[in-house]
Amino acid sequence: MNFDYDLFVIGGGSGGVRAARVAASETGAKVGLAEDDRYGGTCVIRGCVPKKLMVFASEYGEMASEARSYGWDIGDGDFNWTTFRGKLNAELDRLEGVYRKLLANAGVTTYDARAIIKDAHTITLSSGEDITAKHILVATGGRPVRPERENADLGIVSDDIFHLDELPKSILIIGGGYIACEFACIMHGLGVEVTQYYRGAQVLRGFDEEGRGLVAESMRERGIDLHTGTDIIEMGPAGPGGKAGDPVRVKATNGSERVFDTVLFATGRAPNSDNMGLEEVGITLGRKGQIEVDEYSQTAVPSIYAIGDVTDRVNLTPVAIREGMAFVETVFRGNPTPVDHELIASAIFTQPEFGTVGLSEEAAAEQEPIEVYCTSFRPMQTAFADKPDRVMMKLVVSKASRRVLGCHIVAPNAGEMIQLAGIAVKMGATKEDFDRTVAVHPTMSEEIVTMKTPIRTA
Ligand code: NDP
Repeated sequence: MNFDYDLFVIGGGSGGVRAARVAASETGAKVGLAEDDRYGGTCVIRGCVPKKLMVFASEYGEMASEARSYGWDIGDGDFNWTTFRGKLNAELDRLEGVYRKLLANAGVTTYDARAIIKDAHTITLSSGEDITAKHILVATGGRPVRPERENADLGIVSDDIFHLDELPKSILIIGGGYIACEFACIMHGLGVEVTQYYRGAQVLRGFDEEGRGLVAESMRERGIDLHTGTDIIEMGPAGPGGKAGDPVRVKATNGSERVFDTVLFATGRAPNSDNMGLEEVGITLGRKGQIEVDEYSQTAVPSIYAIGDVTDRVNLTPVAIREGMAFVETVFRGNPTPVDHELIASAIFTQPEFGTVGLSEEAAAEQEPIEVYCTSFRPMQTAFADKPDRVMMKLVVSKASRRVLGCHIVAPNAGEMIQLAGIAVKMGATKEDFDRTVAVHPTMSEEIVTMKTPIRTA
């Protein structure tokens, strides 16, 4: 049978664009791609990239105060959201242009349209056009979700942050995951009064306990009003408004009742798999709506594959890209390549950052006998400025194999550090390999190779 395309990709985010581009430019496949929003997807348009630029913006205020301790005659200054947002939007426009150009240069035909799947080889576009393809790749990502409660639509979600007309004076953030903690720190750094409610006992569930503890403590020390074991009981409009982002009166389980200029729900994300005809053609969806795939990202329909957040495996941009590359290798180069989801390093961009790779102490101790090496200290740069900030470096080591099972760093720039430590951990480095490595002095990260005695065994 003759198809219009060898590959049709639905979704122009990190994973979809990479798969389309590589399949077209490196394997000669005829490729089409449909995107109904902006090219670049969550990471570029409403996630990692604008978030990181906001992290940078939020750090300058404190840098100015530190600079004074180093002898600089610098005032506090004010942050101008409108100026920043204008520059941010221009940068996102530029990046979207880059993504479109990458696809065009690779010979991919793009459609600014929503696509649904009609059958195993046919896509229907919102324009009404039917397109056939030998293979279909679903890379539609995910979206933030609000909890189901009365008036939840008064709260905003992370997508909305980048479009705020002005910064609120006060914000209540609900949740204790990556997004909640990152935006709590960002907003605080930009001068917003931040309150955060998390329903569990400690934020960043699943991460190393001591790392979570230090991040939470640092957030409180900086002035974030973080309440754990706390959730909303009731919320409603505080004034005549009544739309997302308007002031909200909130009654909480800790007995408080107050008005916040804005409420942000950072309560998790859901796969974008609704109303796409997936189950109708035989694709299996999981409980959260994620597309079920095998290790080659193939769905229950052999001609249809899925990658990235819509499959809810490890929801990170570099993972979606890897899944896209493995898909091309498997399907267009005839070299079946499973995706390796083991020992993926990642960072939470709180202040300080939390970089992590491998098992938490708690997960490792469940698995086998371990030794724990850990140090916590005041780093030179902020100690000189009389700041109380502390950093933490931790290695979780297998007693039997001596391999480093987990590395956890809470420190400024921990994201940069963990990328490099991640190579050693992925290679299977032992504690003795770390010990053989001479320290780079004076740095914070030298402590990772100078910890001599375990602080405990388990
Ligand atoms: P997470 O799943 O990390 O966190 C969701 C948070 O919301 C949890 O604390 C959860 O509590 C809480 N929650 C869920 N439902 C409710 C509810 N009904 N009421 C109150 N609280 C609720 O999701 P995020 O949205 O923060 O991030 C999504 C994913 O995006 C991450 O897992 C990560 O993969 C990715 N990401 C990565 C980043 C990075 O690499 N730096 C940055 C941002 C996102 P509980 O713990 O009790 O379930």
